Amino acid sequence: MLSERFKNDNVARLTLKEAQLAARNEYLSQVALGKYQFESVLCECGSNDLEILAKKDRYAIPITTQICKSCGQVFSSPRLNQTSTSDFYANLYRKLYVGAAAADEQFFNRQVRHGNRILRYLSDVIKPNRGSVLEIGCGAGGILKPLEEAGYSCIGVDLGDTYLDMGRQFGLTLHCMSSQQLYETTKEKFNLVILSHVFEHFLDIEKELNTISSLLAKNGLLYIEVPGLFNLRNTYDSDFLKYLQNAHNYHFNLALLKRVLGKYGFSFVKGNENVQAVFKKSDNSVPCTDNQYPSIRAYLDDLESNRECYVKQQSENAELAIRQRFSELDLTLSAFPDKSVSLYGTGLHTKQLLSYITQAKKLKNIISPDAAEHGNTMGNLPIIALEEQIPKAIVISSNSYQETIFRRINHLESSGVEIICLYK
Ligand SMILES: [Zn+2]
Repeated sequence: MLSERFKNDNVARLTLKEAQLAARNEYLSQVALGKYQFESVLCECGSNDLEILAKKDRYAIPITTQICKSCGQVFSSPRLNQTSTSDFYANLYRKLYVGAAAADEQFFNRQVRHGNRILRYLSDVIKPNRGSVLEIGCGAGGILKPLEEAGYSCIGVDLGDTYLDMGRQFGLTLHCMSSQQLYETTKEKFNLVILSHVFEHFLDIEKELNTISSLLAKNGLLYIEVPGLFNLRNTYDSDFLKYLQNAHNYHFNLALLKRVLGKYGFSFVKGNENVQAVFKKSDNSVPCTDNQYPSIRAYLDDLESNRECYVKQQSENAELAIRQRFSELDLTLSAFPDKSVSLYGTGLHTKQLLSYITQAKKLKNIISPDAAEHGNTMGNLPIIALEEQIPKAIVISSNSYQETIFRRINHLESSGVEIICLYK
């Protein structure tokens, strides 16, 4: 095991909401009653030379995470078998992971922002504004919304119907079925298949990839996003335990993902350690043979020993990055006349921005879409509606909602308003 923290001691790494605790207890009682059945598996590479890393996940659900000494693949074994997995997704998964059984609009909007990021990432490998896209395991389908708006013809499939309903309200074409069922009922071939935080949940990688291969058009691309093992210093508070969750059967860095995709006939196009990666259906993919065990084992050991130090570093870096943006904004603002620029947004980000920048005299007001705020002030600046006065420039003062706000106001660019985004 990585350390004592990973033993099966009933202590959750996350603070669980009541609904999550109930879901966890339900899971444990299904196991105790023998209704949930487990299966042991070999590594994807065929080896049985394994080492145990952990005996529980972040919810304190007992699950054994192994690393293969022959190739470095990290995976769960024993794990729930197919029947029990289906039951788990139908009844407990969302309650345990989200603490709610149905999607809300916030969840959908998060997916839309994610879709924007994916679209940007794919912009240099897909044809602009045309082609067909399939997302497997689409949840509420929000990722497809920006792709659909950009001109792609999109379909989403997922097994959870309540989440699909949310996306259907936004006009998306979403089906409650597996990718295999879609393959059996459609003749359509897709230019792009998206698997966003889905691949790590698969039980039978070979079967799933064969189905995807049959659904892809010639030269079709497969976009895969999974949490990256080598990205843990930037995510999950640098804590492998906080990252472990019983629904993830496989864990990857980029090399492990390339290895398994290569084995099943996909060649690598591009990727990073986040992990985001693009693969192409290929008749001559080259299987890789290098063993990731030494580097992954060393990475996880280092993470476990220096976790607290990394957490501190990360929060210092985040603070530094945001101050860097504000300094750049000062420079941009210095070129404008006094009282000629509006800020858009009245949240915490604006509070921070106003307390940091030195060029506040260039600002004349703050725009808010919320009528209840109009007439109030923030940092001595009046809060107004967008329509009231047309400024020379608008600074979008938000990190998380920058894309959404940009889409709302970018029509003003044609009337000569400069729109300033702080985040790339
Ligand atoms: Zn292996």
